[in-house]
Amino acid sequence: MADIEYKRILVKLSGEALMGEQASGIDPQMIAKTAAELIALARAGVELGVVVGGGNLFRGAGLAAAGLDRVTGDHMGMLATVMNALALKDGLLREGEAATVMSGLAMPQVCESYTQRDARRRIAAGEILIFAAGTGSPYFTTDTGASLRAIEMRADLLIKATKVDGIYDKDPVKHSDALRYSHLDYDLAIDQRLAVMDVAAMILCNDNSLDLVVCDINQPGALLDLAKGKTVGTRVTRKEAQK
Ligand code: UDP
Repeated sequence: MADIEYKRILVKLSGEALMGEQASGIDPQMIAKTAAELIALARAGVELGVVVGGGNLFRGAGLAAAGLDRVTGDHMGMLATVMNALALKDGLLREGEAATVMSGLAMPQVCESYTQRDARRRIAAGEILIFAAGTGSPYFTTDTGASLRAIEMRADLLIKATKVDGIYDKDPVKHSDALRYSHLDYDLAIDQRLAVMDVAAMILCNDNSLDLVVCDINQPGALLDLAKGKTVGTRVTRKEAQK
């Protein structure tokens, strides 16, 4: 615990991070790997919340483009995040760590319903919380859900764990000369529409002075290194907070 710099951390896991090399769905090996990284954090004494995405299964915008009603599509997307959350909870349990799924959409037979007060009490008691269904409302994303839950939990740091090792000035998959930022501010990320998180999520973080780090979930130990204050991936801060 002594070398931990961030006592309470919210990790956002995109649905893509859970599908591994598959084209969609959930890769059990990725669940096991991710669970191990999260457990290392929790066992080091970090109070931990996890927000899971659902893009590996359904996204409302994609379903709407295919002709479905947008709100119905977003409901399907949120249900997809619940499936991912249950898979992650199962993965944590198999590694010997209990966790609780709290959903922004009530489904009492399946998981707990999210309330800020209950979640804050549980997280402070050291329970790993997996937040599902994003904000619980359509037209949002789980990035915004992650910013919101991080602020509600009074997290010290928000980590977005993806398949990329940081934020680049252009898509590193398409451009071999893409440059990775080590540090930038929310104003720049929003102005330049950098692929960090959606704008609503970044505005919430900026307004509440919550630092964000984007890192690669496949880099072993990255989450724990971040908790210890080491430099990993790209850090995004409020402009005046930059050193
Ligand atoms: N979603 C929503 N409200 C929220 C969060 C998510 O309606 O607050 C829906 C939306 O359709 C979204 C889908 O759930 O596309 C899956 O979430 P997201 O796309 O953020 O997942 P990720 O890209 O992180 O895998």
